Amino acid sequence: MTKKKATKKKVTKSTAKKKKTSKKKTTRTTSTHKLKPGMVFEYDPAPESSAVVSIKKKYELFIDGAWVAPESGKYLNNENPATEESLGKFAIGNEKDIDKAVKAARKAYEGEWGKMSGKDRGKYLFRIARILQERAREFAVLETLDGGKPIKESRDVDIPLAAAHFFYNAGWADKLEYVYPGKDVKSIGVCGQIIPWNFPLLMAAWKIAPALACGNTVVLKPAEQTPLTALLLAEVCQEAGLPKGVVNIVTGEGPTGAALVDHKDVNKVAFTGSTDIGKLIAKNIGHTNKKLTLELGGKSANIIFADAAIDQAIEGIINGIYFNQGHVCCAGSRLLVEESVHDIVVKKLKKRMSSLRVGDPMDKNTDIGAINHKEQLVKIKEMVAQAKKGGADFHQADVKVPRKGYYHAPCFFDNCSTSDMIVRDEVFGPVLSIMTFRTPEEAIVKANDTQYGLAAGIWSEKGSKVHQVAGGLKAGVIWANTYNKFDPTSPFGGYKESGFGREGGRHGLLPYLEVK
Ligand code: ADP
Repeated sequence: MTKKKATKKKVTKSTAKKKKTSKKKTTRTTSTHKLKPGMVFEYDPAPESSAVVSIKKKYELFIDGAWVAPESGKYLNNENPATEESLGKFAIGNEKDIDKAVKAARKAYEGEWGKMSGKDRGKYLFRIARILQERAREFAVLETLDGGKPIKESRDVDIPLAAAHFFYNAGWADKLEYVYPGKDVKSIGVCGQIIPWNFPLLMAAWKIAPALACGNTVVLKPAEQTPLTALLLAEVCQEAGLPKGVVNIVTGEGPTGAALVDHKDVNKVAFTGSTDIGKLIAKNIGHTNKKLTLELGGKSANIIFADAAIDQAIEGIINGIYFNQGHVCCAGSRLLVEESVHDIVVKKLKKRMSSLRVGDPMDKNTDIGAINHKEQLVKIKEMVAQAKKGGADFHQADVKVPRKGYYHAPCFFDNCSTSDMIVRDEVFGPVLSIMTFRTPEEAIVKANDTQYGLAAGIWSEKGSKVHQVAGGLKAGVIWANTYNKFDPTSPFGGYKESGFGREGGRHGLLPYLEVK
């Protein structure tokens, strides 16, 4: 009897399994996904879980190793640009908070940190790097929620690179005598560092890691649009046991940054942001003996020669301008194509753009996420509308864009001329302008015809041509047959109105050292 029952049960189970399988098959064959011409299949959503982070209702300032309320008692709402939902409030620091932070940094500099050997300082940097790696998922999710960039970018680019900068600079901490061989070097003191919203944690790492490796202390002002990962980095500093006051993080808006720049006891200012604010800062501290480095805007040329591997170059164009929604100072926003391959390049580019997935940045399949904040989206739309009136050929990828949140489909203007506004002004969005050239000399002249000089890309199979063109370009970073590749060992910085000073590599340490 019992045996019979058991058999019956077995039969029922296997039938159920069969039923389940056949149901699955039916669902697949009756898929309602509409396939675009040329597309083999549509992607199902693959969302990253946000359960790994807990967003606080309120974030305080990180001063002297502790979380403190702002003197003003004021907080600002932080928004997720992909959903327009709140990500809690963060404190607005004023002059008094900045003064407290600078005093804490001075005390740490005069005290334990300033006296510590390079070898021991390096150990703290290694610790921070390791914790960043251990908590990488948390950082990636937070970066994407806060800034709207695709999770695959924060996960595979921003966070690993931030950790790599701490690792790299940790290695320098006890070898500073080799930065300027044959000369004695020493730290500078308190560094005031101001960063933008496009690579929040990475910019914090670019600034903090070399400063600490050289024996300085820091007051960092994150961008008001993206404070969360810098505040989590403060937690990491606590976890690493970094002596209090070595790193202070004061959130706020422009006036908070201005108070930091103006503070009398700051020895060095490092700023990454817009050219207008950079110029203002340079003017404001020109009469002081503060050291200054500026990493500002760009309108970088991506140059495609007829002998380039065109399919790879298409990927380079996509990566150059649409990576991180075009929110990259060194974005390849001016495409220069050799005339004979212009049509094929544009044709292939259009095809590739139509397969880009724009949408939820937390989806692992997403190529282009949300524009960082509403004002930026408005600015991009205004510039695009103005450029459309100019007569260049406009093309926008026919891709679906979510209704809620701040999104902009990738687009380009073709047949532009060097005097067009869209060729001259930085858009900081997924908007490309295209021009042609006939000779390498013409490519160089057109590429240099800008007030900026941050980066450039050259695509050619001929090494000698790459070297010849690179030699003529006035740009701080030049990529050959690739674009937007970053490495902590490689210096980054600009010519002309793109700023001065370098970050990364041995060069990146120089602004944080005094030569005796
Ligand atoms: P964007 O236009 O890309 O937001 P900004 O240059 O305005 O670039 O901002 C970059 C950083 O500079 C942010 O952290 C911002 O708060 C800060 N900032 C803005 N105005 C000033 C200022 N007058 N002095 C110092 N920092 C400022």
